[in-house]
Order: sequence, then structure tokens, then C-alpha cells
Amino acid sequence: YTSRSSVIIVGAGVSGENRHRNNSLLSLLLRIAAAKVLAENGVKDLMILEASDRIGGRIRKENFGGLSVELGAGWIAGVGGRESNPVWELASKLGLRTCFSDYSNARFNIYDRSGEIFPSGIAADSYKKAVDSAIQNLRNQELGEPPSSPSIPKTPIELAIDFILHDFEMAEVEPISTFVDLGEREFLVADERGYEYLLYKMAEDFLHTWEGKILDSRLQLNKVVRELHHSNSGVTVVTEDGCIYEADYLILSVSIGVLQSDLIAFNPPLPRWKSEAIEKLDLIVYTKIFLKFPYKFWPSGPEKEFFIYAHDRRGYYTFWQNMENAYPDSNILVVTLTNEESKRVEAQSDTETLKEAMEVLRDMFGPDIPNAIDILVPRWWNNRLQRGSYSNYPIVSNNLQLLQNIKAPVDRIFFTGEHTSERFNGYVHGAYLAGIDTSKSLLEEMNREIKERKSESQSL
Ligand code: FAD
Repeated sequence: YTSRSSVIIVGAGVSGENRHRNNSLLSLLLRIAAAKVLAENGVKDLMILEASDRIGGRIRKENFGGLSVELGAGWIAGVGGRESNPVWELASKLGLRTCFSDYSNARFNIYDRSGEIFPSGIAADSYKKAVDSAIQNLRNQELGEPPSSPSIPKTPIELAIDFILHDFEMAEVEPISTFVDLGEREFLVADERGYEYLLYKMAEDFLHTWEGKILDSRLQLNKVVRELHHSNSGVTVVTEDGCIYEADYLILSVSIGVLQSDLIAFNPPLPRWKSEAIEKLDLIVYTKIFLKFPYKFWPSGPEKEFFIYAHDRRGYYTFWQNMENAYPDSNILVVTLTNEESKRVEAQSDTETLKEAMEVLRDMFGPDIPNAIDILVPRWWNNRLQRGSYSNYPIVSNNLQLLQNIKAPVDRIFFTGEHTSERFNGYVHGAYLAGIDTSKSLLEEMNREIKERKSESQSL
């Protein structure tokens, strides 16, 4: 099977959707492609190749404990600021159900291993100390100096706060554009249709759909791209099932984890400046484990939504959330693990993980609490189509150069995805805006080429 298009988009996550605020950019692309068709007399169109059997990528819901829970992106972060968050606009327009989340309460619900809550004064002091030293360490890091040793967290509460600060609330230490530019509020998506409802509604604008399903031959699911042959005149894609797709241009929206893996072979190999930039980017693994209980045994109320477990191992089942604010009487708890702990848990059985989580909960709430009746452990790290949860730029002074290299096209391959977003990498709105940005650059390139051809043919 061989197909020919003007543009191939690999990956159908948010950035692969390539939408313009008011005007579907894909349809804009199609129109441009159509103009190109007229100009060149070729029959060319657009093709989206997605490796999995669904669209959405890292936006993914699953039914669990009678609810629809979000395994990937769960919050619309950055709301209420001077600049509007396009994902929030879209969610508001489409009536997506959301709940306001206030993480800041978490620091006042820190449990030790005997189930005592640390007094708020101690928690606040430890928190302030940790923020101050993190700021100091950040400065040291920028100056290339080692971290100041007295500030290295050692006690369970210090380790817990260090984990919250660095794995959740980095905003208090380092200004993050999402919160500075878009606002500090965050909303949990709590909609039975899932976060992905936004994507399906977006897709409806330019792909044929029927009864909530996309039935359009321009979206090809289960097409794992394994080879990309590129030159300055076009791109040829080979998928795992042996199909070949040819195009003038290609937009590659796979995650940085996939780029760092060997899933896709580039021929010729990517230039050194590109592959080095890809290697330099850090990958965060972020895992939300869902636990369903027969009844509620934890304190509830808006100020109790989040709670912390202080253990002598950093990141060991530290950050907890109850789903009561979003779904009263759901009897679901969510615990978040990151990086090494995520990888460790991914490698073991869910029964083992359930046992560990129950021991932690019994430390906090006593021996008489009921066992969880169900558990859900997403595996983002071991998913070869993701290899992690989101990108993280190292704190170095030449970050802008790194970003430019991550974004820069190679031949006719245009790179997009959350990791190419200058201000909002790691977020849904980052992926969304990156998709728009990349499409614009591609359109400019296509227009430039059309003009060049026109002037060539006129001069003949
Ligand atoms: P993806 O969604 O990863 O899309 C890439 C697509 O490419 C995927 O569909 C994949 O299947 C496909 N693909 C991969 N390899 C191939 C191949 N070889 N051939 C063909 N197709 C391929 N963001 C927030 O804003 N708020 C949050 O609360 C939040 N929480 C998160 C929690 C978790 C656990 C995770 C994992 C992410 C979270 N994020 C959050 C980040 C957010 O989900 C991502 O930034 C965003 O969804 C990335 O979109 P993307 O289009 O760049 O990539």
C-alpha cells in the first residue's frame, strides 16, 4: 500500500490536531493544500497517522470505579491571568465540567507515619525554609555552583515538602509562564466525557464523524511509524504494518520520549545538533494511581482535597487527592508518583502496588480502614508510544538555543508537540499552541515554495 499526500501528520495528540483559535488550521492546511493542488496540478491532501487505536495521546480517560478518570492530563492549568488560556476557553465554550483545585492546602495536611498531622506552624516554617533554599540552589545552579549542603532535605517532612515543591509547585521557586502569564488557578476536569471530549469536538470540525466516532480516511489509526526517509524534496514514511506514505511535508508530533527512543529510524539520521538537543531534554514520568474503596475513611471538604504522607524515602506515596470535591461519594483516592518511583511501580504487579499503598494509608488512617476494591496503575514509561509523561527543560542559561534546536525542522520534517512550546512545555495548552505554531511555520514554507515555483515558471 502506498499513498501520497501534501502533508502527513504523525501522532494525533493535541498538537497533532493543529487547530487555529477560530478556524480549524487543518482545514486551513487543506485549503492551502488545495491551492497547491490547483497550482501544481497534483492531487494531494492531508493524512494523519496515529500509532494507537484512538486519538488523544496523553489525554486519556478510562472507566474506573464507576467513573471516568483521567490517566494523563487532568487539570486545565493557568486560568484567570492577564492572558487567556485557549484550552480553558474551549472547555468553557463546550461546557466541559471542571472543579477548582487548591493545592496550597496540601501543606497543612501532612501526615507522619503514626497518623499525626504536622501542626500548621511547623509545616509553614518547613515550607518557607524549603522555598528559600530552593531559590538559593536555583541561583547556585545558574552560577554553576554546588547546592548548599545544609539545605539538603533529610527528615520525612523536609523530604515531603521538597517533593511537593519540586514535583508539583515549582511555580513558587521558579516563575513558570503558565502561572505567570495565564493565571494561578487550576481546574480539575471532572466530566464523564473526559478531557478528550475537547479533542473529539475539535476533530469534528474537519474530519467526518458519526455518532461520536471519527470515520475519515484521512485519519489512519494503528499506524506505527517506524521509518522516516527525508530529503529536501519530500518525506517517505514506512509504518510497522508495511504501508508506505509519501508527502511533500511531515509534521512529527510524537513525544520527546519517543524521539529519545529508537522507535522511529530517520534516514538519513538526524543531524547532530538535533539529536543532541533531543537527548538533552529531561523527561518526567508522572503516574496517577487510582484506588477505589467500599466507603470513605478520609476527611473531606475543600481544604482536605489534597494530603501528604511524610516518609523517609522521598516520593514514596507522598501526594494524595480524594475525588470527593469532583465526584461526591465516589470513594476514590488518587496517589501520584513520579520518576524513579513511577518506574519502580510500573515494573511490579498491581497487587504489590496495592499492598504498598494500603500500608501507607494504614499508617495515616489506622489499621481498621477497608482494603481498596480496585486499583488502576497507568504505565506511561513502559508505553513505547510515550516513554514518559512530559518534557522538562534543564535549568541552564542557553535554554533558548536548546528549544530552537528542538523545534527546528530537518529537511521537510516539522517538529511539534508540548516539548516544542517555548512558554508552556509540559501542558495541554502548550501542545495545542505548539500545533498552531508549527502549522503556521509550515504554511509559510509552503507559500514560499509556491511563490518560488511561480516566479521560476514566469521567468521561463
Ligand atoms: P501526545 O498527546 O503524546 O501525542 C502524540 C501522539 O503520537 C500520541 O497519540 C501517540 O500515540 C502518537 N505516536 C507516538 N509514536 C508514534 C509513531 N511512531 N507513529 C505514529 N504515532 C505515534 N498537562 C496539563 O495541561 N495538565 C495536566 O494536569 C497534565 N497532567 C499530565 C499527567 C500525566 C500523567 C501526563 C502523561 C501528562 C500530563 N499533562 C498535563 C501533559 C499533557 O498531557 C501533554 O503535554 C499533552 O497532552 C501532549 O500532547 P502532544 O500532542 O504533544 O503529545
